[in-house]
Amino acid sequence: MFFNGDKMKQVFLKAKKERFAIVASNIAFDGAVRSILQAADNVKSDVLIQISTGACKYASGINNVNVGASVLSSIVKILSAQYRNSGAGLHIDHATPNYFDFVKFCIENGLVSSVMIDASKEKMEDNIRITKEVVYLAHKHNIIVEGEIGYIKGQEDEIVSDEQLYTNPDEALEFVKKTDVDLFAASIGTNHGVTKGKNVHLRLDLIEKIDKLLIENGVERGIVLHGASGLTKEQQQGAISRGVVKINKDTRYQMEYASAVQKFWEENKDAIVCPKGMSEDDYIPDKKRFDPRKWLIKGEQAIQKAAENLMDICGSKEHSILL
Ligand SMILES: [Zn+2]
Repeated sequence: MFFNGDKMKQVFLKAKKERFAIVASNIAFDGAVRSILQAADNVKSDVLIQISTGACKYASGINNVNVGASVLSSIVKILSAQYRNSGAGLHIDHATPNYFDFVKFCIENGLVSSVMIDASKEKMEDNIRITKEVVYLAHKHNIIVEGEIGYIKGQEDEIVSDEQLYTNPDEALEFVKKTDVDLFAASIGTNHGVTKGKNVHLRLDLIEKIDKLLIENGVERGIVLHGASGLTKEQQQGAISRGVVKINKDTRYQMEYASAVQKFWEENKDAIVCPKGMSEDDYIPDKKRFDPRKWLIKGEQAIQKAAENLMDICGSKEHSILL
């Protein structure tokens, strides 16, 4: 269990050196956490679990982000302690400046190993000021920080951008130098949400340029790729070979989960719905099949399979720092 920034730094340093990426997996409930941790342990990969403010609201039941983060953090801490072949960190995904108090709460209570402060919608100077403040606080508590400039197209909890802006390498350098973020999210043409990789105009050259520039200026960092669910294997590996160490995955898991549960109910509708032609009096629902454990597990297995596949594609398989 990697609940501190030093351990996650070690994970990302190894990834950068050996050119693989950590699959940063968004979750909102316990079943998804189990699936991803099990996948990571099966393939001996370290993994980063991510929670958004939306996920935290959901997990609390009454839209209380602090309670939700505490619940999800406990789930990840307790479950991940069972495994020996892989370590898991916990990350806050896309916390916008209006969630500063929430980020502070998570940092001061040791709920996470890293946070993303996303002030990319602010003016550059404000983004730098806000991000710097989070970095200062987080580093005091041995927690690492991801920052972002530019927009990633699409929709993700409270981030809505119509236009797509590619990251300017000089601005990336200025941002990293002034804020001292540990991880840098670059916009290279990916979209949040459902997309098809072949329709994305991906600027892999930008990753290379940013990475080179940061190294030349003595501030080498791990680069993060958002909105990567729809990218092809080649696109992802191309990004990794150029310096990406963290690839965010959310939509892919949601789709796999929903498809598996949908398939179950297509095949087992008669377990809960009286078949056409049968009298309601003769019909008895089948508890053996409508028990939630029987169909939720289908979704969980689908997430696990997807996670194992992603860790294989991203090259983190058999690369845990614990091995
Ligand atoms: Zn994102």
